[in-house]
Amino acid sequence: MSEKRLWDTFSCFTSVYSPSLGERQSSSLLLNKLKELGTECFEDGAGSELGGNCGNLYAFLPGKLNKPPLLFSAHMDTVEPAKGKRGILHEDGLITSGGDTILGADDAAGISVILEALTRLDEEGKPRRDIELLFPVAEEIYGLGSRIADYSRIISKEAYVLDLSGAIGEAANAAPTIMSFVQVIRGKSSHAGFAPNEGAHAIRACAKAIAQMPAGQLKPGLTCNIGVVSGGTASNIIPDLCEAKGEIRSLKHEDALALAEKIEALFAEEAIAAGCTAEFFKTCPIKAYETRMESPVALRFERACKAVGAPCHIHSTMGGSDNNNFALHGIEGLVIACSMHEVHSAREYSRLNELELCVRLVMALMSEE
Ligand SMILES: [Zn+2]
Repeated sequence: MSEKRLWDTFSCFTSVYSPSLGERQSSSLLLNKLKELGTECFEDGAGSELGGNCGNLYAFLPGKLNKPPLLFSAHMDTVEPAKGKRGILHEDGLITSGGDTILGADDAAGISVILEALTRLDEEGKPRRDIELLFPVAEEIYGLGSRIADYSRIISKEAYVLDLSGAIGEAANAAPTIMSFVQVIRGKSSHAGFAPNEGAHAIRACAKAIAQMPAGQLKPGLTCNIGVVSGGTASNIIPDLCEAKGEIRSLKHEDALALAEKIEALFAEEAIAAGCTAEFFKTCPIKAYETRMESPVALRFERACKAVGAPCHIHSTMGGSDNNNFALHGIEGLVIACSMHEVHSAREYSRLNELELCVRLVMALMSEE
């Protein structure tokens, strides 16, 4: 019965179109579900601020256990292609999309698990502590929604963010700084046949710098990549412009800054040698955090895993989430696995038995005496 309800909720949330900055349908569904749980929601101004159609949703559910509140969070948006998506439940409990869209278990799984856990605790009359819920928009755009959420409302100092791939019992306690950069090299154009020595070759300068640049995994917890290179106008013209776009990920924020400086210097050097100029632009939408293994939020997670028989495995991840932003506001959190696999692809899938186990895990977190 309750497993059917869990599937119904999951199916509802995977059936709505809720792309980043267009989360209104998902938000309306959530408002109804939370009303059924007897709670009012507050929607902040992130929608208008970001140019979306919906803000972050916040709710406070008072509990009977006299313990500090916990924040649970799952984001409302999904990546594309998502139009017309729906979940298909197979006989063995596997849940897939129709094959031409993502499934959206990222993060309908998190939303459904949180709602089902609260409903079941109510039904069973099991006391829990005060629970705060935050359902952010635009997580898939470098956590834009949770970056500007209304933190004056949030009193929890600990959070569980349901937004991780992997087996139930897995959790991430550290995530990287993610820095995007654009390197622009400006040279001088000239005819490649008649006046090849009059030009300053922007692409060659850029290519030389890229060839010397550290790339890939530089050490555990530090990666660097150039993903886009563009420039030039015709094969008979010395190109006067080349742009290279890349990113740095680092579990240590300072390492990302140091590497960016190194890359900037390298491009500048090659640009000057080729008679070009270089400009370096960087943005850092996500900042690294680390939650201590011995922190209460991690120890509670270990105990809850044990209570429901899920092998606990806490580790770092190289992906960002809303938890990066929570950490900036003094909230210590874990990102926990909630049955989403091969996310951001049409092969994305979930499993009903894993969702069920995750519900019991979240119930244990909420109701631990
Ligand atoms: Zn996600």
